[in-house]
Amino acid sequence: MSSDCLFCKIVAGEIPADVIYESDTAVAFRDINAQAPTHALVIPRKHISTINDIEPEDQAVIGSLYIAAKEIAAEAGIADDGYRAVMNCNEGAGQSVFHIHLHVLGGRTLSWPPG
Ligand code: 5GP
Ligand code: ZN
Repeated sequence: MSSDCLFCKIVAGEIPADVIYESDTAVAFRDINAQAPTHALVIPRKHISTINDIEPEDQAVIGSLYIAAKEIAAEAGIADDGYRAVMNCNEGAGQSVFHIHLHVLGGRTLSWPPG
């Protein structure tokens, strides 16, 4: 845990969140500023700052984020219509919280490419 990390505090239960999924390695909660009818953030319990900081030993943890994403999508009823699972890396791509998180977005038509 990184003591000054917002998402580590959510994992630890120190900051409330609308948690919708938990596994040994991942936690998911609703984005506080939802950009779609379904907008969840899937994060590893382990603090990893950016995609650039992922190490080979994190492969299973990263895979578990996608297992969470597909289960969230199925639960939300958006799996067949389609959804997006996207992770921003660093400020230039819009990352604002430096604990990696997979955005799971769906429930509306999503344009491509993102802005
Ligand atoms: P990023 O911009 O880093 O890709 O995404 C960060 C996301 O975290 C944003 O969509 C933002 O709305 C969300 N967020 C920031 N602070 C909080 C918070 O305290 N609680 C929740 N649930 N989401 C947050
Ligand atoms: Zn963290």
